[in-house]
Amino acid sequence: MTDSPRPYRADILAIDDTPENLQLLSQLLSDRQYKVRSVTKGKAALRAAQAAPPDLVLLDINMPEMGGYEVCQRLKADDRTRQIPVIFISALGETLDKVKGFQVGGVDFVTKPFQVEEVLARIETHLQICFLQRQLQEKNQQLQQEIRDRQRAEEIFTKAFRASPSPILITTLDEGRCLEANPSFLRLSGYGREEVIGHRLSDLNLWLDADHFAKALKELQQAEVLHNREFELHTKAGQRRTVLLSVELIELQGHRCALTIANDITQRQRLESEFISLVSHELKTPMHALIGALDLLSTGQLGCFTDQGQQMIAVAINNAERLVRLVNDVLDLERMKSGTLTLHPRDCHLPDLFDQARSVMQAMAATAQVELVVEPVEVNLRVDGDRLQQLLTNLLSNAIKFSAPGGSVWLTAELVSPADSPSGQPGTAVHIMVSDRGRGIPADMLDVIFNRFQQVDASDARNQGGTGLGLSICRQIVQQHQGRIWAESELGEGSRFHVVLPIVLPIAVVPAPGDSSP
Ligand code: ADP
Repeated sequence: MTDSPRPYRADILAIDDTPENLQLLSQLLSDRQYKVRSVTKGKAALRAAQAAPPDLVLLDINMPEMGGYEVCQRLKADDRTRQIPVIFISALGETLDKVKGFQVGGVDFVTKPFQVEEVLARIETHLQICFLQRQLQEKNQQLQQEIRDRQRAEEIFTKAFRASPSPILITTLDEGRCLEANPSFLRLSGYGREEVIGHRLSDLNLWLDADHFAKALKELQQAEVLHNREFELHTKAGQRRTVLLSVELIELQGHRCALTIANDITQRQRLESEFISLVSHELKTPMHALIGALDLLSTGQLGCFTDQGQQMIAVAINNAERLVRLVNDVLDLERMKSGTLTLHPRDCHLPDLFDQARSVMQAMAATAQVELVVEPVEVNLRVDGDRLQQLLTNLLSNAIKFSAPGGSVWLTAELVSPADSPSGQPGTAVHIMVSDRGRGIPADMLDVIFNRFQQVDASDARNQGGTGLGLSICRQIVQQHQGRIWAESELGEGSRFHVVLPIVLPIAVVPAPGDSSP
């Protein structure tokens, strides 16, 4: 038996009509540190037991008025005293007497004259059994309460999970295997439950930019939670939805899992972009008129200005042109994001594209006293030439802007094996690099600068005439060509922008919802 010590002194009620016996027992038990109450009559014993239930009862059988069997029966009939172990101590030693003792609820029987050690051993054994039983009952009750609490929590969670209007998905972190998806998620993705549960996200081809998503999951392992990250989701029907994902790391069935809650912002974005397009168009006409008027003033045809006046007009023209650039960039970006600016792929000779980019940027490079080094690779690409030109000039103009006079900017390319081509796309790819030895970009900004209006330094817009939209546009162009773009940099040493594009555009660009172009 387990020898777990009781945290209290046991209270024993001894009942015997012979005072000498009682005294002997009392002395014996008190010597062993038990608390003892002694009574000589059955009725008094019942009252004492009900008033303060003892831990154990030692009970004589032959007593006047109320015998030991009856006392025991009454103790067992009362809820307050039912659990108390009763040991009979009697001179009656016949088997039948013992059997009756057990029948009325006794746990043991000691025959007088008794052996002290034997009585003590039996008392201790029954106290221990009783104590362990009580402990077991308490544990049991505790466990039952825990089970009830868990069932309740599970029920609440299951109901909330099923009824949530937000799409929710639970996936394992290592493999990206789906463990659970709520009905809202299934509605959003267009897949049936059986097509999702147990399958890997990569097999479902759910994210338009799987690398971007994989990177976010890596980040999650450190940060434990990500809030409102924007992703493009492919539905089963091939539609593109824009979602904001909040992802939390959780532990489920021994697996580290990602609990992903999505917020479908496709509709909101469409309205936003329609609004932006409308406002931008309305801005463009007056801005062009303004620049025209300022240009006319600067020629002096309408009267001469002082030097200071000329300077002011130059500042005004400069700022007005910046505003037009901003409006154009915003419009381009919105058209690309909404899918209304579709690609017109054709075979383009990469060295020709590089040459065009060089001639467009030559004037800016000369003004900034930066040397342009162009080293193409001999290959024909199936791309939208105008968009690729926009990509190259954006990257080159940044590289020139952030280089010191006397520096160089490199535009280079190399062919890469399929393993280096964008995720899962077969065929050879071309890797284009734009490198500079300029001021560099802090490590924590290398991803962020591809988001709208993100600039390393708030003064970049003012000093460098930038809009903070160039790289965002570059990313859109590269994504539309199913390629990949990223930046590497070392502060004070320079930056390198990488673009990997498939040589043959693998499949038609997935149309955005509402895009009616072929
Ligand atoms: P901007 O119109 O401001 O150049 P971009 O989206 O093209 O907008 O670039 C965002 C920001 O990234 C820039 O404002 C600048 O802070 C940083 N950046 C981009 N290219 C470079 C580069 N080659 N060297 C240093 N910083 C750069």
